[in-house]
Amino acid sequence: MSAVTKAVLAISGGVGGAKLALGLADSLPPGKLHVLVNTGDDFRHMGLHISPDIDTLLYTLSERSNALQGWGLADESWNVMETLEGLDGDTWFRLGDRDLATHLWRTGRIDRGDKLLQITGQLARQMGIESHIHPMCEEPVRTTVHCEGRDLPFQQYFVKEQCGPAVTGFSFEGIAQARPNEQVMAGLNDRSFSSIVVCPSNPFVSIDPILQIPALWQALRDNQAPVMLVSPIVAGMAIKGPAAKMMAELGVPVTALGVAQHYANRYPGLIDVFVIDVSDATLAPEIASLGMEVTVAPTLMRNRQDKQRLAKIVLDLVLV
Ligand code: GDP
Repeated sequence: MSAVTKAVLAISGGVGGAKLALGLADSLPPGKLHVLVNTGDDFRHMGLHISPDIDTLLYTLSERSNALQGWGLADESWNVMETLEGLDGDTWFRLGDRDLATHLWRTGRIDRGDKLLQITGQLARQMGIESHIHPMCEEPVRTTVHCEGRDLPFQQYFVKEQCGPAVTGFSFEGIAQARPNEQVMAGLNDRSFSSIVVCPSNPFVSIDPILQIPALWQALRDNQAPVMLVSPIVAGMAIKGPAAKMMAELGVPVTALGVAQHYANRYPGLIDVFVIDVSDATLAPEIASLGMEVTVAPTLMRNRQDKQRLAKIVLDLVLV
């Protein structure tokens, strides 16, 4: 374990972010990991409030996630979906029986006026998670994917249309009114974090919605804690999901350099250290010319050991 004693703040979308978050949670003393999570993917479906990225974090950190499927819970049953199919109901967004309990319980609490922050904290405690999972904000922020000729709500693009349409841009409805998670802001003001880790999540639809909450990225940049980014693009490819396809459609180079340019252009001075994969080592000098330190490391997280190894590399960067 590194000598980090203060808390660490991770910034995450869903699956890619949760992988590193699990490695960080394993590598830090209990309760020292805080994860600020995207809620731009949240939506109401069949009357339920669904928070896909928060649930990915909850299920991953409590070791309940379905690793094969890549989303949802392990040991899941599908009675509700199968019955709905028989009724010719809405089944494009798959919700397992046990997963549905999370959404039913969360929706009941939201409808009674409780905050997402408290609801998420209670879910985490009930699942035995010692890390702190923070929704990026309380206000509804909804990602719209602008495609050629059409604007699609995020889940319609991502799940219903399986990321098929070519994207031209993104917008985050409600972001101007959003205020960053109060506990994370308090931690930043109190200088509670020894480091800030931007996980290998989709830059456009997982991390941008968080960083574009008014004043948040400047608060992260101006904090004393170094900001480390792990590349979600490895050898010109995304490990999972549409990040590489989106970059190509937006005319951004589909490389770790393209990721670095995105962050350098949108959030000047935010990223102190960019961790790129060993397979991308030749890109290091050009990335460094953007004003970031570059660390080359194995960033593929295929198993728990890989996650812990990458987490340790990232945490140890604070000490050098
Ligand atoms: P989503 O919200 O579930 O789509 O997940 P995220 O936005 O958190 O993560 C998607 C990104 O994670 C993709 O760009 C992947 O390339 C990246 N990713 C997934 N697994 C890994 C991994 O093991 N290593 C690295 N470096 N990136 C990964």
